[in-house]
Amino acid sequence: MSDDTPRFIPSTKPSPEASSTGYWFAFRKRELLVTESGGVESLESLETLGLSPLRTQFLGMLGDTPCHSAELPDDAPAPAGMRFRDLRMLYGQVSETLAALAGRAVQIVEWDRQHQFCGACAAPTKRAEHDRSRLCTQCGLAHFPRLSPAIIVAVERGEEILLARGPQFPPGIYSVLAGFVDPGESVEDAVHREVEEEVGIRVRDVRYFGSQPWPFPNSLMLGFTAQYASGEIRPDLHEIEDAGWYRADALPNVFPGRISISQWLLHDFLERQRA
Ligand SMILES: [Zn+2]
Repeated sequence: MSDDTPRFIPSTKPSPEASSTGYWFAFRKRELLVTESGGVESLESLETLGLSPLRTQFLGMLGDTPCHSAELPDDAPAPAGMRFRDLRMLYGQVSETLAALAGRAVQIVEWDRQHQFCGACAAPTKRAEHDRSRLCTQCGLAHFPRLSPAIIVAVERGEEILLARGPQFPPGIYSVLAGFVDPGESVEDAVHREVEEEVGIRVRDVRYFGSQPWPFPNSLMLGFTAQYASGEIRPDLHEIEDAGWYRADALPNVFPGRISISQWLLHDFLERQRA
């Protein structure tokens, strides 16, 4: 697959005339089965590779090609000429279409695996007919794939950007602030709350920037820019161990590449500073 691939149309059931041959996004834990060159090729079935998936799901159509996900047993061997790769390693290495489909696939595989039984009454669930849910056979509760919205925000003060590091970051690396949206909270409120909780400052002019699905494990990153309003930086020392204001010509070390929305936000700031 390359980036000139056709549009993906999600669906839970293949049309009767769709060919059975298609792309199979098969996972062993969170590792995707890929060819030696790191891609996913069209297959008639996983069985033709000698693999026995535990569960499969139809994902939708990529142009005329059906796309499926599959969960493989933890001890499934990689067929000759193929290997399992950590999904994170694929980002930036394969086409955006493939990475996005693999990210969709792994979340559907994990939802299917984790919702075989009802979370309320523990009875077995069954696949719903008309949407992507599993229904409890006893109490009827519907279990949908879980999606966790999170905000990510570039706070600017004149020619400076606020960058911070969490204790779990690689040594010396800084990034923009991020955090999960609470139940009952708007994403704009989440931006104000997270910035204030993590570094103790107030912001204004919160503006939507863009979004990115981030399947580690099931986030939807909602990106914003915001302007500094008041306060002094006070890292909370729990989620943030250090934070500061940085000019474009004096940045600290940041994550390399442009694969995540944190990097798109930073590069957007840098490009506006150069303009
Ligand atoms: Zn139930």
